[in-house]
Amino acid sequence: MNRPTVPGTVSTEERSTDGRAGARSSELMASAARVIPGGVNSPVRAFSAVGGEPPFIRKATGAHVITEDGIALIDYVGTWGPALLGHAHPEVIDAVQRAARDGLSFGAATAAEVEFAELIAAMVPSIRGGMVRLVNSGTEATMSALRVARGFTGRDKIVKMDGAYHGHADVLLVAAGSGAATLGIPGSAGVPKSVVADTLLAPHNDITAIETLIQVHPGQIAAVIVEPVAGNMGCVPPRPGYLERLRELTQAHGIVLIFDEVMTGFRLARGGAQELYGVIPDLTALGKIVGGGMPLAAYGGRREIMECIAPIGPVYQAGTLSGNPLGVAAGLATLKLIERDPPYAFLEAQSANLVTALSDAAASVGLPYTGNRVGSMFTGFFRSGGVWNYDDAKGSDLRRFATWHREMLARGVYLAPSQFEAAFLSTAHTDEIVAQTIAAAREAMAAVAAV
Ligand SMILES: *Cc1c(COP(=O)(O)O)cnc(C)c1O
Repeated sequence: MNRPTVPGTVSTEERSTDGRAGARSSELMASAARVIPGGVNSPVRAFSAVGGEPPFIRKATGAHVITEDGIALIDYVGTWGPALLGHAHPEVIDAVQRAARDGLSFGAATAAEVEFAELIAAMVPSIRGGMVRLVNSGTEATMSALRVARGFTGRDKIVKMDGAYHGHADVLLVAAGSGAATLGIPGSAGVPKSVVADTLLAPHNDITAIETLIQVHPGQIAAVIVEPVAGNMGCVPPRPGYLERLRELTQAHGIVLIFDEVMTGFRLARGGAQELYGVIPDLTALGKIVGGGMPLAAYGGRREIMECIAPIGPVYQAGTLSGNPLGVAAGLATLKLIERDPPYAFLEAQSANLVTALSDAAASVGLPYTGNRVGSMFTGFFRSGGVWNYDDAKGSDLRRFATWHREMLARGVYLAPSQFEAAFLSTAHTDEIVAQTIAAAREAMAAVAAV
C-alpha cells in the first residue's frame, strides 16, 4: 500500500490500510453506538453513505489528523471548514491557553470581544460601518439573522435554496443539504408543518425562480438566505451574474439579503464570498473559521437592521456562553494571523494544482467527472456536464463516490464521507502533501474505474 510518510507528525504504527477504520476505532464505535445516536455527535461524521466505520481521531496537527489506531491521515475535512490555518496552529493554541488561565466564561462584557468585533467589521464588507453579534454556532447565526430580518421588515416569509444547508434550526430544515441530503432526510421529522409554512424554496442559481416567488408573495418576503458559494450540496459556484441580480431584486423589493458565509467567510477571501464577487448583502452569517476551531459564530450587517436586536430593539436573541473568552481568543488569533499573512494566493495555487490533477486523473481512466472549485473549497462530482444546483449534484454516481472515498482513505487521505460536502485545503497543505494526495488520487481513480 502506498500510504504516505508523514513529516513532522507523531510516529505512526503499522496498520492495515485496507480502508477499514482500524481495530481501536471499531471498538470505540461499538461502544459509541450504544450511548450516542449512530455513535456520532453530528450525522455528517457517520460513514452511512460510503460504508464502513469512521476513524476516531485522537489529535490533529497541521494538515493531518491522527486516528486512535495511530494512523496519520492527510485531512481535507478540516473540521468541516474551520481549519484554514491547519490544525493546532501554535499561535492559536497559545492564545486559547492564555485565555483559559483567566477563566473559561464570565457571561459578561470583555475587552477582547470588542477588539474581535472591530476586526470582523474591518474585514467583512457588509459589516463594515455596521454591527455584529457573537453566538455559539452557525445554526444560531443564521437562525438569529432570519429573526432580525423578520423583525426589521415586519414580514414572515423567507426564501432558501434547494439543497442549501444553514444549520439545523426548524425553519431551515426544508430541502436541506449536507448531512440531511446525505441521509435522504432533507426535511426533518419533528419539524411541524406550521413552522416551515413560511419557508419558500427556489432551486440554487435560478434567478427566475426568485423573481416568481417575489411576484407570487408581494410584500411578504422578509429575507432571502443564500450560500454565495454553496458548500453543502458539494461545492457549487454561483452562475455569473446570479448574486448581482439577487442583490438588485432584494433591494428593489425591500427584502433583506442574507449571505450565509459560515463556510465561505474568511476562506475565499479576507472578506469572504462577498468580497470575492463584489456583492454586499444586508446581513452576513459567519461561523467555522471565525471561531478558529472553537464553538463561536457571528452575524452582522447594516446598522439599522442590527439595531432591532435587544437590548436596543425588540428582537430577542441571547446566549449564556456567547462571546466566551476562549472562542474569542481562538477567533481573534486566527483573524490576526490572516491579516498579518494573507493566505489566499497560496491556497489558490495549491488548490488549483490539486483539483486540476484530480480531474486529469479521472479523465485518464475515462471517468465522467466535474471538478468544482472556488479558492480552497472544492468537490469532485462523479458525473459529467457541470454541477450548478442540487439536482445536478444528485445526478452524480454515488456508488463511484463511495469507492473513491474508501480508496482514498486506504491511501491515507481523509475526505468528507459524502458527495454532498466540500473539501478544504489549509495553509498546512504543502507542495509535498499535495503531491502525496495526487499520487494517491491517481491510484484511487484507477480503482474506481475498475469497479
Ligand atoms: C456549517 C454550516 C452551518 C451550520 O453551522 P454549525 O456551526 O454547524 O451550526 C450553516 N451554514 C453553512 C453554510 C454551513 O456550512
